[in-house]
Amino acid sequence: MSDGSAVRPDPGRLPHRAVTRFAPAPTGYLHLGHVANALYVWGLSALTEGQVILRIEDHDRQRCRPRFETALLEDLDWLGFTPDVPSLAALRSGHPSPYRQSDDGSLYEAAVERLRDAGLVYACDCSRSIFAAWAQTHGRPWSGPGCPGRCRERRLAEAPAVGLRVAIGEDEEAVDDLLLGPWSGPAAADGDLLVRDRHGQWTYHLCVVVDDARHGIDLVIRGQDLLEATPRQLWLGRLLGLPRPAYLHHPLVRKPTGTKLSKSDGATGVRDLRAAGRSAAWVLGAAAASIGLREPAPMDREAVSRLFSGHPD
Ligand code: GLU
Repeated sequence: MSDGSAVRPDPGRLPHRAVTRFAPAPTGYLHLGHVANALYVWGLSALTEGQVILRIEDHDRQRCRPRFETALLEDLDWLGFTPDVPSLAALRSGHPSPYRQSDDGSLYEAAVERLRDAGLVYACDCSRSIFAAWAQTHGRPWSGPGCPGRCRERRLAEAPAVGLRVAIGEDEEAVDDLLLGPWSGPAAADGDLLVRDRHGQWTYHLCVVVDDARHGIDLVIRGQDLLEATPRQLWLGRLLGLPRPAYLHHPLVRKPTGTKLSKSDGATGVRDLRAAGRSAAWVLGAAAASIGLREPAPMDREAVSRLFSGHPD
């Protein structure tokens, strides 16, 4: 794997007319980290004459809020990031949408059913504290197949407050990242994959894999904080017989302290920057500069389409 300093992919390696996606979780307001991701998503889509799908990743009903979705759509609109599918109006109408994860769980359920038929699904009652206790005793986090409570061998009955895991092999999964180059990582880095949690919610990995396939995504563009998710998702996709997209993991916007931004970082929230009188061009320029895509300067929306073309300004 390269050192992560590259910021522009080799255009020859990108899918032609790439179908990519912007997939925020409405657990907070949009911040500069999202804007940096959007620059890649819309910029590379323009370069390949592709399409951007907007997907609301609200599988975690305890952390997601409709008001954050509303704010997110409004901020995207303000920044000029318009998805090809669905329209912002369709999402705003509030009607059930195949682009909002909480609207219909039937595809996730069907995927788990297929894995169950293959004998790969088992009930698991390990809570976070069981994983934490194991880590405390062994001086390292749980890794490898299974779970600390050996739930697969215990053959627990499926029940509402019990999670579901999919048995994953011990192998490594190879990824040829469009920015980072070839690398490989364990598919079961922290045990067998949880596909339904103890609250009955379908989990991130399951939803993303099922949705990327149903939305025809052939280029996944996301931040390097999600690198470790990729071997798991590729593995799960293979178990389900789904097509394999290309992956690009881009650099993250950092706080001055070097740590990753989060939604609670008000100073970099798009809402706060708007309220402080910053223009959309200022916000786009700040996000592009913070990940090394451009010199610091305001940047209008049209310039996003030229960001990766070799003639950025
Ligand atoms: N929903 C995830 C997030 O907001 C992104 C998912 C992905 O790109 O795979 O961090």
